[in-house]
Amino acid sequence: MAKHQFQTEIGQLLKLMTHSLYSNKEIFIRELVSNASDAIDKFNHLNLTNEKFKNPDWKGAISIKLDDADGTLTIGDNGIGMSEDDLMAHLGTIAKSGTKAFVENLTGDAKKDSNLIGQFGVGFYSVFMVADRVDVITKKAGEDQAYKFSTDGTGEFEVTPVTKESHGTVIYIKLKEEEKEFLTKWKVQEIIKKYSNHIPYPITAYFSEEETEGEGDDAVTKTVNKSEQINEATALWTINKSELKKEDYIEFYKSFAHGDDEPLKYLHNRVEGANEFTTLFYIPKTAPMDLYRADYQAGVKLYVKRVFITDDNKELLPPYLRFIKGIIDSEDLPLNVSRELLQDNRILANIRQTSVKKILTAIKKLKDEDAKIFSEQYNRVMKEGAYQDHTNKELILEIIKFKSSNQDDMVGLDDYISRGDSEKKEIYYIIGKDETTLRNSPLLEAYKKAEIEVLILDDEEVDTIVTPMYGEFKGWAFKDITTIEAPTTQTKEEQEEQEKEFKSLTDRLKEVLGEEIKEAKTTNRLTTSPSCVVKDSNDPMAGMAAMFAQMGQDAPETPLILEINPEHEMIKKLTALEDKENFADMAWILLDNAKLSEGIEVKDKIAFANRIAKIATRAI
Ligand code: ADP
Repeated sequence: MAKHQFQTEIGQLLKLMTHSLYSNKEIFIRELVSNASDAIDKFNHLNLTNEKFKNPDWKGAISIKLDDADGTLTIGDNGIGMSEDDLMAHLGTIAKSGTKAFVENLTGDAKKDSNLIGQFGVGFYSVFMVADRVDVITKKAGEDQAYKFSTDGTGEFEVTPVTKESHGTVIYIKLKEEEKEFLTKWKVQEIIKKYSNHIPYPITAYFSEEETEGEGDDAVTKTVNKSEQINEATALWTINKSELKKEDYIEFYKSFAHGDDEPLKYLHNRVEGANEFTTLFYIPKTAPMDLYRADYQAGVKLYVKRVFITDDNKELLPPYLRFIKGIIDSEDLPLNVSRELLQDNRILANIRQTSVKKILTAIKKLKDEDAKIFSEQYNRVMKEGAYQDHTNKELILEIIKFKSSNQDDMVGLDDYISRGDSEKKEIYYIIGKDETTLRNSPLLEAYKKAEIEVLILDDEEVDTIVTPMYGEFKGWAFKDITTIEAPTTQTKEEQEEQEKEFKSLTDRLKEVLGEEIKEAKTTNRLTTSPSCVVKDSNDPMAGMAAMFAQMGQDAPETPLILEINPEHEMIKKLTALEDKENFADMAWILLDNAKLSEGIEVKDKIAFANRIAKIATRAI
C-alpha cells in the first residue's frame, strides 16, 4: 500500500469543495459520467482501429448503482481505464492548465469561488462536495494489473494493487450522511436527464424498490432489485436540428463543456456534398480561463463517424477561435487518422474553412447585449484573428469593437466609416497604455477641433502589434495619428511661412535637447498645449515594433520629433527669452511635459522635478 500526498493545488481545491461550495452539488454526477463517457470514447477508438484491442462483443456502457443500505453510489464504465501512472498523474496532480488557472483564480470568497466553479467545472474533485470517501478501482485496457485509488478528500490518497476482471473504471462514493438523496432513483434520473441525456452510451441505473404483492391481509411487501436505462444515449449532434429544442443544446453544453452558464450562442450544421460533416459549436458567455495561456486546452473534439478521435488537437480551428467549444464529426476521414495525417489534411482544411466562416458569420449577427458581451470577452482574441487570418480579415474587422474619441460606447468599423470622410478614406487611431491619457492626449487636439473621429486603442501590448498589420478595411487605410500630419486649414505656404518665423527657436531647442529629439518644428496639431512629441514616420525602425515584439524583444527606441504650438503664449514668450540657462530649462520642460501628457516615460525624473522647482521659484 502506498500513501501519497496530494499536490498543494489539489489540497486547496479539495478544501474548497468540502467546505465552501454548496450551491450545485448534483453536478458531481455530470462530471463523473462525462469522464466515463470520455473513457469509453477512447476505448471505442482503440477497439475499432487497433488489432490488439479488437473485441467485437464490446459495447460502451455506463452503470450507476444505488445502495441504500451501504450509503454508496457507484459509477462504472467499461472504457479505457487508468494505469498506476495515470492515477497519479490524472487524479493525484493537476496537470491541466485550465484547472491550474482555476486554482490560481480562487479568491477564498466562497460565493465568488462557486461562481468560478460554475463557469469552469473541476471534474473528478467535485465528488468531494458530497462524499466522505471515494475509491476508484480501475484497470487500463491492455494491462494486467488493476489499481485502487482511495481518499477521504483531505490531504492524502492511497494507491493499492487490486484485482478487477475487465478494463474500465468503477468509482465507489461513500456519501456524506446528509447527501443520501442521491441514492434515490428518481433524483439520479432527473440529474442524468438534465445534464447527460445525450451522452452517446447507455446509462443504466441499478436500484431496489419495495413492491407489494397481493391485497389486504395477504399483501406481502418485498424489496426487488431493478435496472433501467435512464438516458437517451444518442449523440446530440447526430439528431436532426428540427427535433432539438434550445434546452437540449444548452443541457448538452453543460455536460460537454462542464459549464453552468448558458452559452452565448450555439450553431449546429450538417454539411453534405463532396465532404460530409456535422459541426456543433458553442460560444461560451465567459472566456475560458486559460484563453491567454500558451498551454490552453483545445475546445473542439474531433469525431469520425461518431467515433471520438481527439480532444487535444489545436488545429481543428485557428488559434484565435480557441474559445469555441464543440464537436466536429467527419464522415470522410479514416478512423485511424493519426496526428501527422491530420496536420496537412485536405478534408480537415475544408472543414476548418467552412467552420470558421460559419462561426464568424454567427458572431457578426450577434445583437445588442449579446454583441456587447462578445466584445467584452473576445475583442482581444479577435484582434489576433484580424492579424493572423488574411482570408477572413474583413469579416473579423467588422466584428471587433473599438473605443472612440467620438463617444463613450464602443464603435464598429462600419459605423466609423459611415461617419468619416469618404473622399479621403482614412481610419485614424492612437495607441497607448491608458484610455484617459489617450483621450486627453495633445495629439488629439487638432482632430477634436476638426471633428474627426479617432479610435482609442488602449490595449497597447496587442494593438501595437496588430493594428499596423490591418492595412485597410473596405478600401479605408488605417493611419496612426502620431505618424501623420494633423488636419489643418492652413495652406502649404502659410505653414512654410510659420516654420521660417520660428526657425531660430526650433534650432535653439534642437541645440539644447541634442540627441533626445530628432528635430523640433512647429505644428498645427495643438490648440491648448504648448508642445507634443510624435514618432518619425520616415524612421525605418518606426514600423518594426511588431516584428520585435514577435521575437520577444523590445524595439529599439526611435528618437521623437518635438512639435511646438506657435499660437501658445509660452512659445511666443520663449522666442524672446535670451537667458541661456533659463531657456535650457524651458526646452527640457517642453519635451518632458509633452511626454508625460502622452503617457511616455520621462527617464530622468529627478532632473525634471528639479527644473520645475527652479522655474516655480523664479515665477514666485
Ligand atoms: P477532466 O475530465 O476535465 O480532464 P477530471 O479531473 O474530471 O478532469 O479528470 C482528470 C483525468 O482523469 C481525466 O482527464 C482522465 O484522464 C482521467 N479520468 C477520470 N475519470 C476517468 C475514467 N472514468 N476513466 C478513465 N480515466 C479517467
